[in-house]
Amino acid sequence: MSARNILVINCGSSSIKFALVNEAQTTFPLQGLAERLGSPEAVLHWQFGDTKESLSLPGTSHQSVLSKILPLAQEAAGGHLDGIGHRVVHGGEHFTASHLVDADVLEGIRANAHLAPLHNPAHLVGIEAAMELFPSLPQVSVFDTAFHQSMPPHAYRYAVPEFLYTEHGVRRYGFHGTSHRYVSKRAAEMVGVPVENSSWLSAHLGNGCSTCAIVNGESRDTSMGLTPLEGLAMGTRSGDVDPNLHSHLARTLGWSIEQIDRTLNHDSGLKGLSGLSNDMRTLYEAHMAGHPGATLAFEVFCYRLAKSLAGMGCALPKLDGLIFTGGIGENSAAVRERTLEHMKLFGFQLDAEANARCTRGVGGEIQAAGSPRILVVPTNEERQIALDTLALLDA
Ligand code: ADP
Repeated sequence: MSARNILVINCGSSSIKFALVNEAQTTFPLQGLAERLGSPEAVLHWQFGDTKESLSLPGTSHQSVLSKILPLAQEAAGGHLDGIGHRVVHGGEHFTASHLVDADVLEGIRANAHLAPLHNPAHLVGIEAAMELFPSLPQVSVFDTAFHQSMPPHAYRYAVPEFLYTEHGVRRYGFHGTSHRYVSKRAAEMVGVPVENSSWLSAHLGNGCSTCAIVNGESRDTSMGLTPLEGLAMGTRSGDVDPNLHSHLARTLGWSIEQIDRTLNHDSGLKGLSGLSNDMRTLYEAHMAGHPGATLAFEVFCYRLAKSLAGMGCALPKLDGLIFTGGIGENSAAVRERTLEHMKLFGFQLDAEANARCTRGVGGEIQAAGSPRILVVPTNEERQIALDTLALLDA
């Protein structure tokens, strides 16, 4: 059988990210992004091999941009597209694994839309459009939350009245599951430990950031909660704050719920602390040049990360390794170093040269002799979605 091709689609409210994954190739033959959909500035960018192209599509809808993307994918796949894998943010408690899309799955995604009102409806638009355009192609939905459905109740329940959970679904769900799952499997392969008898701390540090405790291939705890705002300080998200902050801001400043949501999700985190940027590269340069806000943002980010990882340690019976991934985790030797300086009780020691070497897609072990294992593992959510799609096609 020749190597199969899966188109991976991440359909957002005004954008569609896509990649063609060939099971035998490490790079994507085709990848791209359609953004500002529905506006006069809507545009489709894609890269096919070494060629980059763009197409202006004023006012275009999700459906019509997908009708442009799918033939591109067919062409890049040499006419042999085997399936489509869709990223879906919220599967609630309905979905503990990836699924072939059918009417029940569509209904399940719809039923969880109240938990991800910006994301799930957009995913449905993408899935339904792709099904209409390619009725004969199998479609699979892969949920960010599914991996964390193995958390025990003491990790996923909030200490609030029970009916809020039983009647309204108020609990911790966790996100970035596809990434934590991928990197923990890769880490086990890289060091030759069987996944089913392994134990990891994982830090996914991109624009959104989360930590995860993974035992025998299952999530046992994670730092994000009901929404992706809980936990670490992130690019523009505050992470944990005193829950009374909301009522405090409403009372003292007269802020609306929308204004509080916006501030905590879009104007906080690295951006809010530094007053400069949400981008760790920019911040680190400014920190080195003596910008006090950038230094504070860098320090808060690393300390909060260390504290979260230390807390996640409660869910592990042993430690096979601490994994860094995501744009910051894969590239910032300085964040890795500073974070581990706050975790002295764990005995982590970095090999400075190995730490500096792991950047721009280079992964590997970075601990000094005698230290618990520390790994940089480049994540690849698109590949994991394609692997799930292929596994369901084979089932
Ligand atoms: P997303 O969550 O949107 O997928 P990424 O995983 O690409 O984001 O991560 C983006 C973050 O990674 C940004 O804060 C960016 O500054 C950071 N990053 C990328 N390269 C480097 C680098 N060389 N050093 C420090 N941070 C980096």
